[in-house]
Amino acid sequence: MTTSAMDQSSSSPAMSFTVLASTAPVLAPRVGKLAIAGRKTIATPHHVPLTSRGTVPHVAHDVMRQHTEINSLYAGLEDFIARKQPPVYNTPAADHESPLKKFICVPEDMPLILGPRRFPPIPCPPANTSSSIALLTSTGFTQLDAHDYVQAVQKLRPDIAVGMVDLANKQPGSKRRARMVDRTHAWNRDALEQLYGPSVAEEKKAKSAYFAPILPLDNAQQSLYLDDLESEFRWDISGLALYQSASLGFVPESLADLPRLLFSEPETPHTILRDISLGADLLTTPLLGVSSDAGIAMDFVFPVPDVLQDGSAKPRPLGTDMWKSDHAVDTSSLGEGCTCYACKNYHRAYVHHLLVAKEMTAWAILQIHNFHVMDAFFAGVRESIQRGTFEQDVRMFNCVYTSAMPESTGEGPRLRGYQLPANGPNQPRRMPKAYGLLDGAAQKFAASQSEVATPDAGADELEEQGFAEKA
Ligand SMILES: [Zn+2]
Repeated sequence: MTTSAMDQSSSSPAMSFTVLASTAPVLAPRVGKLAIAGRKTIATPHHVPLTSRGTVPHVAHDVMRQHTEINSLYAGLEDFIARKQPPVYNTPAADHESPLKKFICVPEDMPLILGPRRFPPIPCPPANTSSSIALLTSTGFTQLDAHDYVQAVQKLRPDIAVGMVDLANKQPGSKRRARMVDRTHAWNRDALEQLYGPSVAEEKKAKSAYFAPILPLDNAQQSLYLDDLESEFRWDISGLALYQSASLGFVPESLADLPRLLFSEPETPHTILRDISLGADLLTTPLLGVSSDAGIAMDFVFPVPDVLQDGSAKPRPLGTDMWKSDHAVDTSSLGEGCTCYACKNYHRAYVHHLLVAKEMTAWAILQIHNFHVMDAFFAGVRESIQRGTFEQDVRMFNCVYTSAMPESTGEGPRLRGYQLPANGPNQPRRMPKAYGLLDGAAQKFAASQSEVATPDAGADELEEQGFAEKA
């Protein structure tokens, strides 16, 4: 592997992305450095910790500072705009500060990425329109206007803003795909105009870097969209936001110097490695939080240490289920030889007890450990790419570890509305019926409700909302 010093910086003066090692401009793993003036530098590939209403779930801010290596955050605007006059917009902040960081109490040097929706987003039954997208706040479904989103970026001043994208809930047909391209293109154009356009006074120009969305399309429409992106917006965008790993294959060489943020939901570290080998720089890994919630302490190391490289041994699990009663009297640490705060201070028996007692400290401890495992994993990936042994290391990793995360045998913490898919007509009940005796009365109530006239909706409208097929 050759180490090329492609020293390119993007248009946004505050942000620069430098590729330190790669074999090819696209579709190859690469090591880079994302530097934003006055912020912590992000070494890539790296994962972006996901927040829920401004915090990393289970991790208090002081714990995050003292016991994790979290050095970037992703937040969704939908978490903050439930009210008509969202208080986040009234947060006092100096000109060089981000009101959003003040609002969620993270230090100014923490790189913060803002998108319209949290990740992973809950699918919204209402359809997007040509000027807005549907999203879910804590008070229900609503529409976020593209213009309002850009204003939010201007007010909240995140370090990186991800452009609004028109995504379909299900596999889009050809007409829908064309609409996705048209809408997203128009939103990009208007956003860039509003943020950095020639009509904006120099001192009013946004300091946030803009990551342009790449649609999850794989046909002529994708090329059409990318051509426009390149010819019209090349010098205003600082990065790309992708919504499926297959899109990494469509990034043209002319846009190769831009950092790629992949909104992915990998189910295992193997998938993360595959996405990195396709050239992803920043990745979301909801898998981390899901494992902690399930009571699983992740347990994998990349590259695989020599002691584990025994071809004859059976595949090693990727994690340990702390709900299992085997751990009831086990005083060893969550991960063998792990140096995280959780492993240095607590043992398996304690975590098992906390889980069984539904004590929420359990998830905090698991989260600290899992963040440590994931950070070490990405550090190992970067070293491996720089050393030029990434391919062999991935092959060894796939041999040594099983192909799936262990199944949890226990329950997670209580789920909240914004973490659950909306109730569709054919979804099973989330909770068993609690009041059997009321069933007769409930049926009568349901019957009386169904006689209440429903508002008439035209067939076109129904199709637009994707209801036609369900009906
Ligand atoms: Zn640990």
